[in-house]
Parts: sequence; C-alpha cells; structure tokens
Amino acid sequence: MENKGEASPSIISASPTSSPPPPPSPRMVLSPCAACKILRRRCGENCVLAPYFPPTEPAKFTIAHRVFGASNIIKLLQELPESQRADAVNSMVYEAGARIRDPVYGCAGAIYHLQRQVSELQAQLAKAQVEIGY
Ligand SMILES: [Zn+2]
Repeated sequence: MENKGEASPSIISASPTSSPPPPPSPRMVLSPCAACKILRRRCGENCVLAPYFPPTEPAKFTIAHRVFGASNIIKLLQELPESQRADAVNSMVYEAGARIRDPVYGCAGAIYHLQRQVSELQAQLAKAQVEIGY
C-alpha cells in the first residue's frame, strides 16, 4: 500500500514586507501655502491652511476665499478636529465652485434636481409595483 503522504505544495506565504516607518517629514516652508500667498501674509509653521491649500493648487483657495472669505475658512477649520479638516476644505471648495457656477442656487440647485429625480423615480417604481401586483 503506497502512501505518498501529504505532498504539500509549498504554501506561498505572503510574507508581509515589513515596511520601514516613513521618515519624519519636516514641514517644508520653502514656499508659502496658496492661501498665505494670495492673502500676502507670512506662512508660519503653524499655518492652519497650509496642509489643505498647497502652493501647487492656488485655484482651490481662490474659489473658497471668494465665496466664504479667508477668516471664515480659518475659523471653521480651527473649530474642527484635524481629522475632519480635509473633508471640510474639500466640501467648501466644492460648494464655492457650485456657487460661482450658479450664483442663484449654488449646490442647492444640484440637490433640488436630484430630489426631484428621486421623487419621480419613486413614483415610477410605485406605478410599476402596482402593475405587477406587488
Ligand atoms: Zn499658509
């Protein structure tokens, strides 16, 4: 009786490559952030805007500043935990862009439009459910 035993195919163990921790990155203060550049103020190490408005994307700040105003943006960010600031900046930039494109409705225009679509689709769904005797 031949017993070949467990010819186990070598299990490919996904060895987790132990990645070294990223080196501590000193804040680059070579150039002022987009916000400080536009506001013509000194961009210090504790600039609350610098992490969110890099000098490479000046339009982000220009748009948000035009609609919300720099001091309101700063105040809002200071009142938020750091973990939520990037999202807040992204939504402010989005809202400001929508307001500039549509000075009357801003992003509310998109919301109204989508709400109307939802209720139209709900009505269609209800009608279809009646037709199939749901
Ligand atoms: Zn700055």
